[in-house]
Amino acid sequence: MRRSFLALAILAAAAAALLAPAPTSAQTHPTAWDAALLERPDVKAALTHLEREFPAQVREWIRIAEMPGKSQHEQQRGAYVRAEMERLGLEVRVDSIGNVTGVRRGSGGGPTIVFAAHLDIVHSLETDLKVRKQGDTLRAPGIFDNSASVANMLAVIRALRAANVTTTGDLVFVGTTQEELGLRGMAYWLANNPRPDLLIAMDGGLGPINYGALGIYWTRYRFTSDGAHTLRSRGQPTPVRALADAVQRIYALEPPPLPDGAVINIGQVHGGDIFNGIPQDLFFTVDLRTPDPVLLDSLDRAITRIVREAAEREKVTLAVEVEQKNGAGGTERMLEGARAHPLVQTAIDIQRQLGVRLGPPGTPAAIATGSTDANVGVVLKIPSISIGRAYGGNQHTLSEWADEPSALLGSKLTLLLATTFGDGVKVVAPRYVP
Ligand SMILES: [Zn+2]
Repeated sequence: MRRSFLALAILAAAAAALLAPAPTSAQTHPTAWDAALLERPDVKAALTHLEREFPAQVREWIRIAEMPGKSQHEQQRGAYVRAEMERLGLEVRVDSIGNVTGVRRGSGGGPTIVFAAHLDIVHSLETDLKVRKQGDTLRAPGIFDNSASVANMLAVIRALRAANVTTTGDLVFVGTTQEELGLRGMAYWLANNPRPDLLIAMDGGLGPINYGALGIYWTRYRFTSDGAHTLRSRGQPTPVRALADAVQRIYALEPPPLPDGAVINIGQVHGGDIFNGIPQDLFFTVDLRTPDPVLLDSLDRAITRIVREAAEREKVTLAVEVEQKNGAGGTERMLEGARAHPLVQTAIDIQRQLGVRLGPPGTPAAIATGSTDANVGVVLKIPSISIGRAYGGNQHTLSEWADEPSALLGSKLTLLLATTFGDGVKVVAPRYVP
């Protein structure tokens, strides 16, 4: 097993070397963000507005977090965002997948910048979403991912309006749907709208800026058999043995770890409902992630081959059901050009200016392993990043929490990116070569 993986890894490394752009001097720090923007009266007023209205932002954040939002059931959140955007004078439309888009027109000639905050959460409609506050900590399923970003987005729209900030470029704010089901809302949006110049996903904890795209493949492997009573089961084909064999061999693949390698997780194993019989239907799921497009496809093929062999050996029927295939943006080395883009470098500079904590000592200012709406942009070679919303943790669990005061940092970061790129910085022929 290890040997066959080694062959894969060598193949992947060779392909990576071919794809990697030649190093350029621009990669050190091509833009020095001009902190003078902080002194521009309108920007200053907008930042002051964010600070002054922060208690109201938190109240709205809690209100949004307590609305149901399971993927494909984002309607109440969508209706709320739509109403607020309309009230704030944006040109609003809702598409057939439920994405809510609000356009703040620029005076012309500037880049089009999309800010995307996903509306959906992973928690079921039955989950108690009541927010509990303990000191500076807010606790509730979905409070962090991604209710915080939706509130940040609305707060920024209000601050821009209150301070009469004008931009040359159009600022396009999108509440996306079905992010947690494989970035479906954003994929639909980009397929049905003019290509933006920049894409900023508001998602994730405050920390390194994310400029890459972790490829994510979700596959369900389903075995079926005729079944048999336990007393007649001896020596009969059983999906259970095929599954056990396949699962063991998949874990033995052990690819090198992220950030450049891959992670494989078997998240669901289902089948059989009685003690006294061979199950007729059994499945398990694979969540495969890597930023390396070559490794992604080679691992995907290797896993499918393993499962196919297990099914053949056991003489059970196999169905391979692809749930999502989200492409990989490239490893850090492949994305050197993307990292040098002014969007990434400016976001790094603004975070520094705001004093955003990156994490343990040695944490880089930007990383290439995103799993957000920005992934869709990265794969389409649109300069794209994801930025944090607040500090927090335990995403996708019932013990999810967020640090309330830090959402102000997330909002300020968004506002400063909007004012920098919406007006000041020209983004023409970007050095973006993923
Ligand atoms: Zn999220």
